Amino acid sequence: MSTLINLLADTVVDPPPGMRRAMYEAELGDDVMCADPTMNSLQERTARVLGVDAALFMASGTMSNLVAVLAHCSYGDEVIVGDQAHMFHSERGGSAVIGGTTLRTVPTAADGTLPIAALHDAVRDPSNIHHPPTGLICLENTHLRCGGAVLDPSYMAAVRALADDAGVPVHLDGARLFNAAIALGAPPRDLVREVDSVSLSFTKGLGAPIGSMLCGSEAFIAAARRWRKAVGGGMRHPGILAAAALYALDHMVDRLAEDHTTARLLADGLVEIVGLSLAQPCVQTNIVVVDVTGTGLTAAAFVARAKEAGVLCGAVGQSQVRFATHYPIERADIEEAVASVRGASGHRHRLSHANGSR
Ligand SMILES: *Cc1c(COP(=O)(O)O)cnc(C)c1O
Repeated sequence: MSTLINLLADTVVDPPPGMRRAMYEAELGDDVMCADPTMNSLQERTARVLGVDAALFMASGTMSNLVAVLAHCSYGDEVIVGDQAHMFHSERGGSAVIGGTTLRTVPTAADGTLPIAALHDAVRDPSNIHHPPTGLICLENTHLRCGGAVLDPSYMAAVRALADDAGVPVHLDGARLFNAAIALGAPPRDLVREVDSVSLSFTKGLGAPIGSMLCGSEAFIAAARRWRKAVGGGMRHPGILAAAALYALDHMVDRLAEDHTTARLLADGLVEIVGLSLAQPCVQTNIVVVDVTGTGLTAAAFVARAKEAGVLCGAVGQSQVRFATHYPIERADIEEAVASVRGASGHRHRLSHANGSR
């Protein structure tokens, strides 16, 4: 058996040498005083790429999403979020714990959208004093738990129309926004026209060690800067991190297309294995989720066997397993990974074959 192939997540990327060099050489200053030139240039550049007024660096995607809720909402507001959203499942309930908002979930469709009719029903009537007022609608693109599904611009426009009617702002968790842009063949700015704020991550497939960006209007970012300070996110010399993110924008974004190619290759290989089926409508970006029920193994047991065979992947619930492709995984790694997983999941298959019952 050769080395471990790590497909557990797209966060496992080791910062490439050029990125480390850029960090070493970064020009620095105190960013709480807005005097870090590298950070200022990253924030300006990100805002330009997204076609928004302003952008503010955050320590993590979780911090970006929390600060977005804090900046958009008042204490006691209700935030509408998908029942499969990262903001709902994986951010420790921060918007409630710290933000004093309640979360109202809407069932997430398999394609990552929150159906317009369900959103419509979830928005509160502001004249009814019994209800918590709706403060924000949150979407996710690409959608992690929906296997990296991409929200298309026409859906975003429909949400915008509904939000305008309701007078409610829209926040987009765009941790993998660049993946969505590449999958759609559209510039990233086309994916955020319809939202009031967007968070994106430099640590998902882009290889930066730390960093996320919250983007929006001048007034929104001014409020976000105050909230960031309140949650301990004011940073002194973060230009060293901004240099990594700038390197990511220059060198790591376009290559995400390769991750989409290797993900499709991986999916094609995995579904050929007896007992495995694709657990998502299709593979649009860098995430592949398979259902392992047909192998007779639980997801956790499957993951343990795959690890023994040299492939790291992650259990999602009892019956699904997630793989993510990322730098510097390439075609040969995928071929090797598929062969290893085939060996690891083939126990039952081999037994039945030996019994002549295949
Ligand atoms: C990873 C992730 C986040 C949070 O980012 P962290 O930097 O890990 O806090 C938010 N949303 C989605 C969809 C993610 O995948």
